[in-house]
Amino acid sequence: MEVCQDRCLGRNVWPDNVWRDHIERTVRTRVRQHPMPPFDVPEGDPFGPHNLPYGVFSLPGTEGSAGAEGSAGAEGSAGAADRRVGVRLGDHVLDAGAAAAALGSPYVSLLARPSLNPLLAAGRTAWSDVRRALTAWVTVPSHRETIESLFHPLSEVTLHLPFEVADYVDFYASENHARNVGRIFRPDAEDSLTPNWKHLPIGYHGRSGTVVVSGTDVVRPSGQRKAPSDPAPVFGPSVRLDIEAEVGFVVGTPSRQGSPVALGDFREHVFGLCLLNDWSARDVQAWEYVPLGPFLGKSFATSVSAWITPLDALEPARVAPPERTHPLLPYLDDSDDEPGGYDLRISVSVNGHVVSEPPFSSMYWTAAQQLAHMTVNGASLRTGDLYGSGTVSGPSERERGSLLELTWNGRDPLELPDGKRTFLEDGDVVTLSAWAPGPDGTRVGLGDVTGRVVPSQAHPASH
Ligand code: MN
Repeated sequence: MEVCQDRCLGRNVWPDNVWRDHIERTVRTRVRQHPMPPFDVPEGDPFGPHNLPYGVFSLPGTEGSAGAEGSAGAEGSAGAADRRVGVRLGDHVLDAGAAAAALGSPYVSLLARPSLNPLLAAGRTAWSDVRRALTAWVTVPSHRETIESLFHPLSEVTLHLPFEVADYVDFYASENHARNVGRIFRPDAEDSLTPNWKHLPIGYHGRSGTVVVSGTDVVRPSGQRKAPSDPAPVFGPSVRLDIEAEVGFVVGTPSRQGSPVALGDFREHVFGLCLLNDWSARDVQAWEYVPLGPFLGKSFATSVSAWITPLDALEPARVAPPERTHPLLPYLDDSDDEPGGYDLRISVSVNGHVVSEPPFSSMYWTAAQQLAHMTVNGASLRTGDLYGSGTVSGPSERERGSLLELTWNGRDPLELPDGKRTFLEDGDVVTLSAWAPGPDGTRVGLGDVTGRVVPSQAHPASH
């Protein structure tokens, strides 16, 4: 532990009485055989005090909560009154509103809430101030006694969708992904990219009401499909259910309709990011998408991680995006700006087996460019807006962020220990996890996003 090392080196960083109290409390706690005291996060833990992501949780036994079954992260039915903003430290979650109240902090009005929306709406200065306060609460020894009882083991809480999703947009910002899709579906085209691809970040408006938190089961969608050789479309459960490994960006500060948000104002508006799985029914998508784009093949479910990592925790992870091969119009030109990419190392697993490790640093379009583009026509932002990066695919075969690419549209099945996979089968569990470089060689962990495919529901049309 850092403080002990300082003590051993003769640097007396705490007054003696504080030190004595610390030792006594540590011994007491150890004697109680608590799994790991909340403050004593092991050095190098990706959820140490340098991270502090935000979520929303409820405690077991609160009215309508999901109980033990839901403790793995599934959305329970806890009433809004039982939900509270939490901050993750190691394997514990701090009841942030209760801590603010106990410490007499002015941020109780932002934190003692059932969702992150009031904090999101408070803006950049408040985000930095609150983060600074939280960092002090979990690191300054004099606060320990006051807030120690406000930590709860993660295994004992239910995590909920942490914010009310306003509008949802999904992009298509990985050049590797776009080229793979082009090669699969337009093998005879001269260029695997469409002519607009290098000039604007392609996106579409999705369905915010079906964004669900990690741990929520995903019902296999049904719809129309028609292979090119089929004489007519058929209706039924999707037979080509896929994932898209993405990063979601969460908007805090709104903007006025008619006023575009400039590239340089990204950090004024975007609070943080999460992992996002954009479940996709490829057969439904292929038949419906011309000419208006994604619709029912996407809108049945989008999963997000339960933890929102503030951009402030990811400063050490900022990297330059890939070199731009085409000159950009001024509103998208970031050549003189600070690095707009993020070095996030994503891992995709199916039933516990890692099938891909997509590098987010390879994304051609940055989140700042996406924000500038989606508002350049005067469209406004609302607190809680969520936008997905688009499938993250790196240049190599083991870095592809969808089964479509990993199996080359089903041609090359994946060999998993529990059998071959082209697309997802009922019962399959998909988990995205990620980390980013943190300060001083540490890692910043992002919250996992996981979901299990369950069989399609009986549909009236099938009887
Ligand atoms: Mn997508």
